[in-house]
Amino acid sequence: PERIVSPEPEGVETQDNTLRPLSLDDFVGQKAVRENLRIFIEAARGRGEALDHVLFAGPPGLGKTTLAQIVARELGVNFRATSGPVIAKAGDLAALLTNLQPRDVLFIDEIHRLNPAVEEVLYPAMEDFQLDLIIGEGPAARSIRIDLPPFTLVAATTRSGLITTPLRERFGIPLRLSFYEPDELQRIVARGAGLLGMPLTTEGATEVARRSRGTPRVANRLLRRVRDITAVAGLTEIDAAAADAALARLEVDKLGLDSLDRRYLRSLAETYMGGPVGVETMAAALGEQRDVLEEVIEPYLMQQGLVQRTPRGRMLAPLGYRYLGLAMPQDRAQ
Ligand code: ADP
Repeated sequence: PERIVSPEPEGVETQDNTLRPLSLDDFVGQKAVRENLRIFIEAARGRGEALDHVLFAGPPGLGKTTLAQIVARELGVNFRATSGPVIAKAGDLAALLTNLQPRDVLFIDEIHRLNPAVEEVLYPAMEDFQLDLIIGEGPAARSIRIDLPPFTLVAATTRSGLITTPLRERFGIPLRLSFYEPDELQRIVARGAGLLGMPLTTEGATEVARRSRGTPRVANRLLRRVRDITAVAGLTEIDAAAADAALARLEVDKLGLDSLDRRYLRSLAETYMGGPVGVETMAAALGEQRDVLEEVIEPYLMQQGLVQRTPRGRMLAPLGYRYLGLAMPQDRAQ
């Protein structure tokens, strides 16, 4: 079963763009990122040049793809999108790059999953707008050089630590997105409710925002579920109590944690005595992939101060014990 609080897109969400902001002005939150982008976009437009390459890093669902689209729109250029694992061969990348118009934006999602052979070809493309390709095999092989139009690579990653140094150094504009503040999420929820024509009160919006794990994608999903539940109930106003009742039915608690998060915390507390325990061990214990824990579960639990990451492994933090209603073991209490 899919998690209602998963920050990954699912089903129709990949096609449904009703709630996607289309301009920097429309985009709520991530103030520093927005201000940086605004300045660099204006400068590039003023010079009539391609914008420097941009790297967005941060957990899923925070708006990396949305911002990449906004960058292209504000530059007034085409937006082409692909993702790291999809570009299997150097030739695939060459086909994408040679089809760009000058100053276009090429968006590569999950850039940390790029094949190393493809990455090699990307370096001179980013730096000098040149492609060096080997044509043919064996003694007949020869290398050719192709000039590319100046373009902007906008890349996104949920795992900036997995990006190689030479690749990282070729992004002139590295930007990090962080979880949204409650008031920002509240504005996102209120905006979404308006677009969806929902009679959601301010307090109702606060209630949805609070359980959204600092993540707009989760906020939008919870909002749609609340809409379904309250519509079926025939409510003409969705206040905090109505939102709370709807969200409780989805088994998302006040912090936005669901049963998988709670299993994680309980396993850490009870099976592993609060840790430290390695991520592989946790993944095996929960029957989940390590990547899912590292990219999806743990960032939010750590941001909430429930779990700590130490060099020896994960540990349950004092707030984690309190969340579970457990006393902190004597030897851990400081
Ligand atoms: P990512 O690429 O980081 O996984 P997306 O850009 O696909 O995230 O955003 C996920 C969803 O959240 C999108 O459907 C978008 O509509 C919404 N969203 C993201 N950021 C914002 C924001 N700042 N304001 C309103 N909605 C947002």
